[in-house]
Amino acid sequence: MTIVPLMDDGYDGVPAKRVLNYLQVHKEKGDPIVGVYCAYAPMELIQSMGIVPASLCAFSKIPIETAETILPANLCPLIKSSYGFILEGTCPFFAMAQAIIAETTCDGKKKMFELISEVKTTFVMDLPQVPDQIEAVQNWKKMILKVQKFLEETFNCSTSDEKIESALKSSNRKNELMQKIFAYASIKPSVISWQEMYDIAFLAQPSTGQEINPVLEQLIDKLDKRVKDGIYFGKPDSVRVLVTGCPIGGDATKIFKVIEESGGIVVAPDSCTGMKAFMGRFDENTGDPIAAMADRYLKIPCSCMTPNTKRLEDLSLLIDKFKPDVVIDFVLQACHSYNVESYKVGNHVTNNHLLPFLKIETDYSDGDIGQLKTRIEALFESI
Ligand code: SF4
Ligand code: SF4
Repeated sequence: MTIVPLMDDGYDGVPAKRVLNYLQVHKEKGDPIVGVYCAYAPMELIQSMGIVPASLCAFSKIPIETAETILPANLCPLIKSSYGFILEGTCPFFAMAQAIIAETTCDGKKKMFELISEVKTTFVMDLPQVPDQIEAVQNWKKMILKVQKFLEETFNCSTSDEKIESALKSSNRKNELMQKIFAYASIKPSVISWQEMYDIAFLAQPSTGQEINPVLEQLIDKLDKRVKDGIYFGKPDSVRVLVTGCPIGGDATKIFKVIEESGGIVVAPDSCTGMKAFMGRFDENTGDPIAAMADRYLKIPCSCMTPNTKRLEDLSLLIDKFKPDVVIDFVLQACHSYNVESYKVGNHVTNNHLLPFLKIETDYSDGDIGQLKTRIEALFESI
């Protein structure tokens, strides 16, 4: 069965190139570009000022050796890869970014931002990490206001409550459409592949709703046609896999490839490069769109938060909707917060949902692909 690609613009399977093209188009128009490293970056504020966000998290093993000339080898590969590209001067995204917005998430990233600030203007947002505390949203709102001032001064541009409110509404629509697209993987068998979900998510993250929403609507029409035509991925009895944990992209997508090669199909990519950035809604028409933004962003369930109970609540919703047969927790080496949290995630999955659970700890190298395959095949056989 030949499946017609969904986006079909020549960039299928290479989402980074598609996003690079998107940024280049904006650069040629003279739009300012700001680099971001995290799902907590207040995208709607940035976009309401006519600034284009460029995600700088890197997923390639290539610059890691260079990074290790300065950074410790025993550090998360995402940080080493991101910084290695900067050291080598080989990241076109970083080259295009005129300034950086960063957040105090994990220790490794925080310390990398100190090094980055030596080569590019950087604003570090102090992220509250106990999200249930009453002051957390107020403090995050203050920080968003500070970053607004930073952007106004750095790029000589401005925004207004009306523009921010409009950006929130447009993102709400984008998130609704993205959730609809992900929902095609909840159909048994799934009519959308992990690669397609990733390709779409990578482009949708930096895009404004006005830019991407018409594209998403067209994709939904194509997916509806697939349903009518009886087109699906894998086999009707393929093992359905929910992958949670650290962000996955580039060389880390080896995990998705191994799952497929072992007879599984990824139905829910629960990470910041997958579904997480598109969950939830901004409250509309509150009269204080920055507070609405602060409230929604602090609900992102990253393991840097404590307690991170929202992650387990969201995981339950995903399990109920996408009906996985197994849950795999993807932990990057030396990511202590996701690694420690895996114990709770595993207990939640096995005790409350009675599903098999596997924690995978890995990096961006190919060295463990055989071992991953053996473990995942054994997991699938145990069902
Ligand atoms: S996993 Fe956490 S630190 Fe990493 S991008 Fe997501 S929210 Fe940010
Ligand atoms: S994967 Fe973990 S250690 Fe790496 S940047 Fe994200 S939160 Fe930090």
